[in-house]
Amino acid sequence: MNTWLDVPPNHPFGPQTLPYGVFSTGPDGRRRAGVRVGDHVIDVSAVAALGGDPGDGPSLAAAWANPTLNPFIALGSEVWRIAREWLTEIVTNDVHREAMLPHLYPLEAVSLHLPIEVADYVDFYASEHHASNVGKVFRPDNAALPPNWKHLPIGYHGRAGTVVVSGTDVVRPSGQRKGPNDPQPVFGPSIRLDIEAELGYVVGGATELGTRLSVDEAADHLFGVVILNDWSARDLQAWEYVPLGPFLGKSFATSISAWVTPLAALDAARVPLPGQTDPLPLPYLRGDAFGLDVHVEVSLNGAVISRPEHAAMYWSPAQMLAHLTVNGASTRTGDLFGSGTISGPTKGSRGSLLELTWNGTEPLELADGSRRGFLEDGDTVTMTAWAPGPAGSRVGLGEVTGTVRASP
Ligand code: CA
Repeated sequence: MNTWLDVPPNHPFGPQTLPYGVFSTGPDGRRRAGVRVGDHVIDVSAVAALGGDPGDGPSLAAAWANPTLNPFIALGSEVWRIAREWLTEIVTNDVHREAMLPHLYPLEAVSLHLPIEVADYVDFYASEHHASNVGKVFRPDNAALPPNWKHLPIGYHGRAGTVVVSGTDVVRPSGQRKGPNDPQPVFGPSIRLDIEAELGYVVGGATELGTRLSVDEAADHLFGVVILNDWSARDLQAWEYVPLGPFLGKSFATSISAWVTPLAALDAARVPLPGQTDPLPLPYLRGDAFGLDVHVEVSLNGAVISRPEHAAMYWSPAQMLAHLTVNGASTRTGDLFGSGTISGPTKGSRGSLLELTWNGTEPLELADGSRRGFLEDGDTVTMTAWAPGPAGSRVGLGEVTGTVRASP
């Protein structure tokens, strides 16, 4: 696919990608939907308003004029498909060039904002390598995987209101911790601040309370994908998590990329899951349970420390959404769920410092000669990702970055 815009061939944000975000520009700061092509942002509500609204019913110009993507995402998968077809036409057919030029902005000239109003936030635990590494670190005397792990995608409800956009500083959380040999818990800033490299799935199309989505239906409710960093205070987490799971060790901040990659852009990245034959999951978890061949890169202060491979995940996002609704829980547009830390079988593909440094016992050596078991104030963590696109192209998934600030 070629575009008339000034975009180098093989650019990961060429016309094969077309991610959605929310941007503002100029002094009025008005937030509205934008679509990235190369290093440009298209003001899509302005272009759609020029005439011949592509929405064929619901007005895309009106939906995209909002400060979050939720009104657009609420229109459902058929409208997402029509919108993507129209976007592809306007960036690949140069008859649209003159009309569009006033509505193009250089990427470096815009401010990017949180793209969705997050409704409910859930985080899963879908990597077998991650779950078994965590089991070995936290529960060395027990089986690495809990007995339910291969029967259901384990998850917990997180805090939607503290999901922040890439670039937002993360203040080191304070809380209680108690090491195994400490006589009493103490309070203070976390001394084991960590990251978790994940993909986040943005859900669209509300469902009724008391109904459920099958694995096949679930895919129609997956609007798109963000890169997600589930910042984690391991010391707070280790003391609080029994028996109800993560709470304050996770809820202080979760960062997501500013660009939401439509699931449709990842058609060429669909791969079979690594295998769910022993045991076979229960019937409600069967169906078109695709995996996604997304390659993630994690950098600490500019140097790559890990390359997690999403294709190695055990559970499919479609299975996670089917499981999330199997009890009749309804979904809302803007629901977000995380894949869980993406870790592969090798040390270089582990998606958290907990695993990369084996709970701090094998520190990383950084380029400046310093060592890290966990994060220090001032550290910047950046995650990027890409996936195979059509005809040998690459689909970029943006980036999520954040810098640790000292506890106040
Ligand atoms: Ca997580």
